[in-house]
Amino acid sequence: MAERYDVIIIGSGAGGGTLAHRLAPSGKKILILERGDWLPREARNWNVGDVFGINRYVSPDAWLLPDGKSFQPQVHYFVGGATKLFGAALYRLRKEDFGELKHYDGVSPAWPISYDDVAPWYDKVAQEMNFPPSLQADFQGTAASFRNSLSNEALLILAALVTVYIVLGVLYESFIHPVTILSTLPSAGVGALLALMLFGEELSVVAIIGIILLIGIVKKNGIMMVDFALEAEREHGKSSTDAIYEACLLRFRPIMMTTMAALLGGIPLALGRGIGSELRRPLGICMVGGLLLSQVLTLYTTPVIYIFFDNLGKRVAGKREKNTEGHQPPAEAAGQS
Ligand SMILES: Cc1cc2nc3c(=O)[nH]c(=O)nc-3n(C[C@H](O)[C@H](O)[C@H](O)COP(=O)(O)OP(=O)(O)OC[C@H]3O[C@@H](n4cnc5c(N)ncnc54)[C@H](O)[C@@H]3O)c2cc1C
Repeated sequence: MAERYDVIIIGSGAGGGTLAHRLAPSGKKILILERGDWLPREARNWNVGDVFGINRYVSPDAWLLPDGKSFQPQVHYFVGGATKLFGAALYRLRKEDFGELKHYDGVSPAWPISYDDVAPWYDKVAQEMNFPPSLQADFQGTAASFRNSLSNEALLILAALVTVYIVLGVLYESFIHPVTILSTLPSAGVGALLALMLFGEELSVVAIIGIILLIGIVKKNGIMMVDFALEAEREHGKSSTDAIYEACLLRFRPIMMTTMAALLGGIPLALGRGIGSELRRPLGICMVGGLLLSQVLTLYTTPVIYIFFDNLGKRVAGKREKNTEGHQPPAEAAGQS
């Protein structure tokens, strides 16, 4: 290559092509190097199964990572590159895209340049495209509903907890024991979050559904114990300690059976591979992580919390009784004695 060039551009996709187009009027001598051949024009270009399923147009090249492992970079060596196959646009990346980003299957390292370096160029393009000031970018349709549903997650969980508290309160005619039952939930939530972190999964909508599912499964352990203990106290006059002790002994087997059934059912979801597994995996991970931790902890903590709240409830009731006695009018008090 005896000739000299002012600029050499590698690749003829949207990136290289746009750069060449922008520099062309400058009069500089530009060389575009393209590794690929022309994309053959054939019916399979438009076949989703061929393009996305069997990756017909993806090069089988494997690249090496610094640790020696190889990976498939999904490159398309054709004139026009992947841009041509996917009708791609050059989008304005977000600020965080320039830093290190953790993806589902690996880490995308930080760029050597920052968003602030390229922001003026993004602005220049927008200016040259002459976008009207009224043009605004926002999510619509399904994407907008998805974003809205994310913002309501905390409210959804709170509403579920309040509903559970009310139903349990009515069921056991108690203000305090629904709290004993709900005390099982933090350990399940922590277990689910730890498991998600361990497997590098995000707190996605599916993971939130998994946590709501956990609320139901884990709460059942508390209900099984408290239900039995309350009846033993109220119907058979047992002390709170004896009642919960007996509940623990008798309800251990059904608690273990139901929890293990749910936990083992979650394992294939958590370990699953194949199409669509990325959607199911957070659900399985939440279930397995949440159930494991909560099962280990709540078998010990629920009886302790039950006894504590029961004694607290009795102390408060005793004080209230004393107060009402003290406030009775003297005549009525005298009449009663
Ligand atoms: C499966 C998939 C689906 C996508 N779907 C969409 C979508 O729906 N919408 C969207 O906007 N974007 C989509 N994209 C992203 C889009 O394809 C890219 O953002 C865009 O094409 C990037 O343009 P580029 O110029 O950087 O790369 P490319 O268009 O890939 O161009 C790179 C060029 O460099 C050439 N080249 C590579 N190595 C060498 C070398 N050593 N020497 C010479 N030439 C070389 C290649 O042959 C190619 O022509 C998708 C990407 C993939 C992989």
